[in-house]
Amino acid sequence: MADADCLFCRITSRQVPAEIVAETGELLAIKDINPQAPTHLLVIPKEHIPTLADATDGHTALLGNALQLANRLARQHQLSQGGYRVVVNTGAEAGQSVFHLHVHLLGGRPFRWPPG
Ligand code: AMP
Ligand code: ZN
Repeated sequence: MADADCLFCRITSRQVPAEIVAETGELLAIKDINPQAPTHLLVIPKEHIPTLADATDGHTALLGNALQLANRLARQHQLSQGGYRVVVNTGAEAGQSVFHLHVHLLGGRPFRWPPG
């Protein structure tokens, strides 16, 4: 169910423009508007799920497909050899700012661990 007040619902329903890099029946992948690495993409389910903590067993295939799309995009962007980072910020304390589940794909530079 789309949420009229949700930015990513508005992007997946094309009411707000974004740089789309891939689309499937259930997912949209876009360029992050404020990239934190040379490649910074977001894989967004079209379904409004606020956070990963709200996902249910019924979302198992969707979550797997989101990771697999990130994997495919990493390959397309030549990130697979050197490495890349996939992040799902979950909740305000983890730094989530858009409360519509999304997978960050970051690559093209080295990353530190632990993250801040
Ligand atoms: P998070 O902090 O994990 O919720 O990530 C939200 C991400 O959405 C941030 O990296 C933002 O830069 C990105 N973002 C916010 N607004 C837009 C937009 N209109 N188009 C693309 N990315 C956006
Ligand atoms: Zn939404």
